[in-house]
Amino acid sequence: MSAILEVKDLKKYFKVPSGLLHAVDDVSFSIERGHTLGVVGESGCGKSTLGRLLLRLIEPDAGQIRFDGQEITALDDKAMHALRQKMQMIFQDPFSSLDPRMSVRDTIAEPLKIYGLAKSKEEIEKRVEAMMDTVGLSKRFINSYPHEMDGGRRQRIGIARALILDPSFIVCDEPVSALDVSIQAQILNLMQDLKREKGLTYLFITHDMSVVKHISDTICVMYLGKIVETSSTRALFRDPTHPYTQALLSAIPIPDIHVKRERILLRGELSSPIDPQPGCRFAPRCNHATERCSREDPLLREIEPGHYVACHLCDGVQ
Ligand code: SF4
Repeated sequence: MSAILEVKDLKKYFKVPSGLLHAVDDVSFSIERGHTLGVVGESGCGKSTLGRLLLRLIEPDAGQIRFDGQEITALDDKAMHALRQKMQMIFQDPFSSLDPRMSVRDTIAEPLKIYGLAKSKEEIEKRVEAMMDTVGLSKRFINSYPHEMDGGRRQRIGIARALILDPSFIVCDEPVSALDVSIQAQILNLMQDLKREKGLTYLFITHDMSVVKHISDTICVMYLGKIVETSSTRALFRDPTHPYTQALLSAIPIPDIHVKRERILLRGELSSPIDPQPGCRFAPRCNHATERCSREDPLLREIEPGHYVACHLCDGVQ
């Protein structure tokens, strides 16, 4: 299996009045073709910025993004526009990401028109109807507008709009977090089915560990712009190693009253990502922090094949 996406030392800092906000800070990872990489962390950890950087909806300050073997950070607007047929995005809030003045037909057809991928009105109509069928939207909604539909159906429109160009890679930015739990399951199952049928690769951004467990083959845990742990989903849930990952996992509800798990409470709030101090960014909230942690930034190290952790506890020197 080969990597469809390889990211190396990616950085994005934003200038804000009080300094430089380190949104994404030296992030490296790859995604195998046909896999789902879950990116998880609290709001403000940089995961949504990361998703937008990959599609160059915002420009990176440094680093490389290689998609399908091609380095894309230096591509001009025209080349990037062409490439976005293959790299699409599904947004968190289906309501605000849809144009309220456009019907379902027009919304799904718009990318076909922009890319000139249909020869006639009839072909557009056929492809829109086929796509509605693929995402489980009844054709009776073809003339409806977003405000006439519920959240689940609106997200199906968002998925249809992303899929109509036949992409191979999709960034899914919290695609179910605005939906009711029962609808979440339907949309996640739809996305899994589509991945299998079309051989899609997903980068799936979420703050919800249950969702990320359900959908991902591998997981990156982010904290204040950095990846602090990454491994296969199975290894991460079997042996969470970074204290932050352990705290996130301890907060997942267990649907069995006989199983007890102690919840690890994190002290304080996420620290500021503006001009972060040297040392481990998690130190102010970590129950295991030592003097070294506040002075030295831990590197991401491989603790077993494919399982990487950025924590001084893992290098045997304290
Ligand atoms: Fe905690 Fe230190 Fe590990 Fe950071 S490096 S997670 S502060 S033990």
